[in-house]
Amino acid sequence: MKNKSRATESGPARAVYNRFGNHMAETRDTIILGSGCAGLTAAIYAARANLKPLVLEGHEPGGQLSITSMVENFPGWPDGIQGPELIDNMKRQAARFGADFQLAHLERVELGMHPFRLHTSAGEVLTRTVIIASGASARWLGLPSEQALIGHGVSSCATCDGFFFRGKQIAVVGGGDSAMEEALFLTRFASKVTLLHRRPAFRASKIMVERAMAHPTIEFRTNTVVDEVLGVDEKEVKGLRVRDVSTGVTSTLRVDGLFLGIGHEPNAKAFAGQMDLDEDGYIITTGNVLTTHKGVVIPGVYACGDVQDRRYRQAVTAAASGCMAALEAEKYLEEHGH
Ligand code: NAP
Repeated sequence: MKNKSRATESGPARAVYNRFGNHMAETRDTIILGSGCAGLTAAIYAARANLKPLVLEGHEPGGQLSITSMVENFPGWPDGIQGPELIDNMKRQAARFGADFQLAHLERVELGMHPFRLHTSAGEVLTRTVIIASGASARWLGLPSEQALIGHGVSSCATCDGFFFRGKQIAVVGGGDSAMEEALFLTRFASKVTLLHRRPAFRASKIMVERAMAHPTIEFRTNTVVDEVLGVDEKEVKGLRVRDVSTGVTSTLRVDGLFLGIGHEPNAKAFAGQMDLDEDGYIITTGNVLTTHKGVVIPGVYACGDVQDRRYRQAVTAAASGCMAALEAEKYLEEHGH
């Protein structure tokens, strides 16, 4: 039977008390983990299906699009659209149809029971279906000096922190589209951007590499890795100790900032042991968005967007899989009762 208690629009799930006055978790039809492109598209579809989804916005509300600059390849925007604006539009669209949003993240999940029990930073909640759209987070080099200087000249988000480097020299690490995009974006502020990549060939699309190479402020150094970020004692980046991997020669690169553009880690650790993950921790899906445990489909639990996609990873593919996940959740609830 459908649970009659409902959260208020755009507010957190309402607390429910049993006859002894003890707090009980409310049971939702659908909870969406993550508020990036996949999660918000799932929210639009689930809300329009009257499932009144609750979106837990996660550690990085808005996901990767919210820290991207111009998005030029999302269909329907011939002149491009800023990532944060695109995300804001999607959120408003989902809210218009009754999606609830909560600034919370998942801490632990119990998928062995039904309804599923989610332990979140805002409390406990039960749900009949779960849509995992928790995305992927920026990867770091893992150097102690890099970790010590995060927020003191080391960053993984050019759009967030580029502004602080006006007139300064910056290094960007990576050879994919993110690194090219970061390097190009940082030319708005930096006097010089040095792009460091560990091998000669680039993973980035040809057009992005060409654009970055043609930019007068960007210098490319391939076959180069960072061994140490200098400036830990001074608590600000003073330079990098870099190594040419083809010659083994190390040198000091004088920069004021280091931006990492080396890809992302899937946010799926909370599901380990209860769901099949691949060797890099991405959720393995079958039939596009169905999750499995030991090869058997977990009914009512769907994954969409970058947390399960290591191949396409585009805003439009994330949105498409979010739509699919919501349609599957709707079908499941129709068949099994709300
Ligand atoms: P990516 O394509 O996986 O590229 C990561 C890059 O970082 C690779 O060049 C990799 O080197 C390097 N790297 C990884 N770990 C490293 C380490 N420990 N030390 C040094 N270098 C390391 O990731 P991405 O650039 O974030 O792109 C992900 C997806 O998003 C792609 O599909 C991309 O097309 C898409 N994207 C699109 C746009 C756009 O269209 N505007 C913008 C951003 C991202 P190797 O090549 O040697 O492995």
